[in-house]
Amino acid sequence: MARKLLGKVAIVTASTDGIGFAIARRLGQDGAKVMISSRKQENVDHAVQTLKKEHLDVEGVVCHVGKTSDRTNLVEKTVERFGGIDILVSNAAVNPYFGPMMKIKEDAWDKIFDINVKATFLLCQETVPHIIKRGSGSIVLVSSIAGYVPLSLLGPYGVSKTALFGLAKAMVPELAQSKIRVNVLAPGIIKTKFSEALWKNEGAYKMALQQIPLGRMAEPEECAGTVSFLASDDSSYITGETILVTGGMTARL
Ligand code: NAP
Repeated sequence: MARKLLGKVAIVTASTDGIGFAIARRLGQDGAKVMISSRKQENVDHAVQTLKKEHLDVEGVVCHVGKTSDRTNLVEKTVERFGGIDILVSNAAVNPYFGPMMKIKEDAWDKIFDINVKATFLLCQETVPHIIKRGSGSIVLVSSIAGYVPLSLLGPYGVSKTALFGLAKAMVPELAQSKIRVNVLAPGIIKTKFSEALWKNEGAYKMALQQIPLGRMAEPEECAGTVSFLASDDSSYITGETILVTGGMTARL
């Protein structure tokens, strides 16, 4: 079977675990060369080794997306190693605060917006000139259902994810001129470390399941095919869209 991303080069941030790792693996399986990254060298090494053993064409580099020098190095190393960039998947996000919105401290608010929104934009800005050199490409931002529906005790995180819908829409016209499409993945509840408060505690787990028509939480792999689709020519006329992967949780019409 033809592999739809053959010859393409992809950067996936926060790709040593969870949804990012599943996306990196899937893009690799679909033929892309993938640059793995996250904050910790040991996690990068482990993810790269795992995917190389599966005969995928991957390399890794440390990148805390909030650090300018790390982002620059991520872009430079990708171009050095793979010869260019066609696809950016901006997946990294943090949530240092869980509680009533009115009680959040300024430094926690700043961290959420620095990593989830500002670093996402800056990485797009740094990657775009390289995608332009390839003639066309695709950017996928990982947002959340929380960007549509404010979740209890996760207010500021949700607002940062709403901002990504606006960021994608704002970039669309300018980048369309360079044949770069920008789309968004909005996951529901996916079983990862990030969401473990919702599935490790039996009470929270039962309550969460009541909100999900498919009656279960998703595995990270269930987000990966959607991102591969958005990265590929199969979605060549789709830009400025958000695809919800939520098992039917109510988010928007
Ligand atoms: P996860 O399983 O906790 O994975 C976190 C990954 O991010 C790890 O590879 C971690 O590695 C890396 N990381 C953390 N901070 C980073 C930073 N500042 N810079 C670079 N890498 C960083 O998380 P996940 O659930 O897959 O979440 C991925 C994305 O999906 C996030 O944008 C999240 O908001 C979104 N999302 C998740 C869910 C869900 O239910 N899980 C739902 C909706 C949206 P290191 O520790 O080595 O940095």
